[in-house]
Amino acid sequence: MKHIWGPWRMEYIKAEKPEGCILCEKPKEDNDAENFILYRGEKNFVMLNRYPYNPGHLMIAPYRHVDSPEKLTAEERSEHFEIVSRSVEVLRKEFDPEGFNLGMNLAKTAGAGIDDHIHTHIVPRWQGDTNFMTVVSDVRVVPEALAETYRKLKGKF
Ligand SMILES: [Zn+2]
Repeated sequence: MKHIWGPWRMEYIKAEKPEGCILCEKPKEDNDAENFILYRGEKNFVMLNRYPYNPGHLMIAPYRHVDSPEKLTAEERSEHFEIVSRSVEVLRKEFDPEGFNLGMNLAKTAGAGIDDHIHTHIVPRWQGDTNFMTVVSDVRVVPEALAETYRKLKGKF
């Protein structure tokens, strides 16, 4: 896998990490637009990654705070994958990517930013997207880009 260079990710690395678990806290707030929550299923929800590797970088997470997929109920697990599939479908329609990276990082050692609440990353990929992203690499551009991505995808699930 080619690595994507995302200089705005430094903002995340340097940012003060919130005390609580954002994947627990954000869905409890009644503020989906500002929290970039795109879709709420019964057991799982879809959220834009605030520090995306590419436009349309999504995270699918269960509402329940668990750190490994075997701790999910069968219902949670099957809905999780249903929503992952639907998200791929939505991104195909709206962004027309050439490929995707789908995956979970379990534990810090494996690169998990949030290591105690599982989530599946969906990163749309384009040929040469490493170059493409340098164009929008200015950190100040990202909030604007996120709001735009949110508007584009909201209601499409
Ligand atoms: Zn949590």
